[in-house]
This record gives sequence, structure tokens and C-alpha cells, in this order.
Amino acid sequence: MQTLIAEDVVSDLNARFETSTPEEIVRWAILDSGLDRIAIASAFQTEGTALIHMASRIQPDVPILFLETGYHFAETLVFKERLADQLGLNVVDLTGDYTVESQADAFGSRLYERDPNACCELNKVVPFARALRDFDAWMTSMRRDSAWTRKHTPIVSQTELEPGKTLVKINPVANWTHRDAWAYLKEHDLPHNPLYDLGYASIGCAPCTRMVFAGEDERAGRWSGLLKTECGIHVREARVQDETDDDADCPPSETAT
Ligand code: SF4
Repeated sequence: MQTLIAEDVVSDLNARFETSTPEEIVRWAILDSGLDRIAIASAFQTEGTALIHMASRIQPDVPILFLETGYHFAETLVFKERLADQLGLNVVDLTGDYTVESQADAFGSRLYERDPNACCELNKVVPFARALRDFDAWMTSMRRDSAWTRKHTPIVSQTELEPGKTLVKINPVANWTHRDAWAYLKEHDLPHNPLYDLGYASIGCAPCTRMVFAGEDERAGRWSGLLKTECGIHVREARVQDETDDDADCPPSETAT
């Protein structure tokens, strides 16, 4: 694989960033990495709002890629518009080849219930991969403590999007806790998706998201009842987890979709 950053440099960066703040990592990514075309992928959750705030203070027009699947909660869409107006964000809505209606015509209604991997492929993986062709790197807001499938999330990694096209992925808040994310919002007087106030802990598409109960994993409300924990975009971290995890209590996953 032809890489944008030498692998030994990636290792050094990961070692260094373990003790860096997210702001320092974002600053490196935008100003010092040498990666010219960089975007943020976000569903405007708590840590994503924090990451967007950090990055847009350095580069106001940094592209914020939002997967407009057609299945989001109305509250999420309103919140996205509110934050975009407040911070003057450059939000780029990504859509797949089907609308909710044409998907139902082509594949039947409620595909997300019958085959959520296929639904995510159509509405998330395909449009996202298409958009990333225009970038050298993307930043996400994955936290290692948000789910067992994410506990080995690297801060900097490289993947081959397609033959000849390598992409750097940066997770500046990998080491953050749930509490850190909320503290950042409070410190900077930033708003949050009102669904958190109703008991949602991780918010994705409405048909595949439920509130969590006391004691449950933060992402337990995503694809609840299914052996699915990721939409396929964050495949690498899930694969690393599958290959390295020795925790016998972890359930099997179908994350590589
Ligand atoms: S999260 Fe659910 S509704 Fe959204 S794209 Fe995936 S399967 Fe479809």
C-alpha cells in the first residue's frame, strides 16, 4: 500500500499523541501534518460537536461531512442546522443513490430491519467512500471508552480506500471519556442534541437507535438486538479489535460490513 505518511512516523505519532490533548492533535492535523485536504466526519453528537468546534476555530471552512441518510431524527437535523449557524460551519451533506422512497421501491420497506448491513452500505458506506476520494485525511470523534469494539482505536492510522488511494484517519478524542466530552461543551458554552436529555446516549438513524437503560453500554442503543455494532465506515478499528481482543465476555460482531 502506498502511504501518505511513513509507517514508522505513524507509530511515532501514535506514541506521542497518547499524552497529547485533542486540541494539540487537531492543530497538528490541520496545520502541521502536511495533509492538505482534510475533512471531519460527524453526526453531531457530543464529542463530534467538540471536535468540530476545535477544528473550525483553526480552519473555519473545514468540511464537515454529514451522512444525510434520510433516516435521522428530526431533532438531529434541527441541531445540525443550529450548530452550523452558530459556528458558521461548512457542512457537506452526503447522500446515497436512493431516497427513502426509492429505496423502499427497490428493496422493499424497512430494509433497516431486514438487512441493516445492506441499508448502511447504501446510505452510509457508499456515499462516504465516494466523498473521501476528494480528501487526504479525515478526522472522526471515536472514543475508545464508548464501546468494547472501539477500545483499540488508533489515534492515527492509514487505510487504502481503493487501489492507489490511501487515506489518513485521525481520532483526536480517542482517549477522551464521556465526561470529557460533556465538560468541553460546558466549558465552551456549546449546545447539544436535545435527544440526550430524553435518555439517548449515542444517536444515529432513528430506526436503529433506542434509549439506553442504566448500566448499559453507551452504544447499546445502536442496532439493539442485532449482532451489529458499526455501520461499516469504522471497519479498521473493529477489525483490530476482533484480531486482538482476548476478552471472553465480548459478544461476536459483524462489524466488517
Ligand atoms: S443506521 Fe439503520 S437506517 Fe441508518 S443507514 Fe444504517 S441500517 Fe439504515
